[in-house]
Amino acid sequence: MVKVIKELLSDTLRIGREAYSMKTAEINAVYSEELEEFLDSLGVLEEIKNGEKKCYFCNSIVDVSDIQTVFPMDDDVQICCNKSKCNDAFNRKVEK
Ligand SMILES: [Zn+2]
Repeated sequence: MVKVIKELLSDTLRIGREAYSMKTAEINAVYSEELEEFLDSLGVLEEIKNGEKKCYFCNSIVDVSDIQTVFPMDDDVQICCNKSKCNDAFNRKVEK
């Protein structure tokens, strides 16, 4: 299961074609069968399939199967891979 963070902190961020303006972070769980479709809707599936998308934290290339968390940052869709150090880094970022 992959966590999808639609918003971090209180900024309104745009991911893919949809803009979210919720004040609190909403976490959606996306099952792997739906994940590719979801990534496609965000406009990042091509990038991932082409080996061009990197983990926000460790900078390694992520594959669809490596994705732990999808979240918006710097006006882009970011991926946190499934390494525990990246998850720890992500959790620290969210808690701030
Ligand atoms: Zn990583």
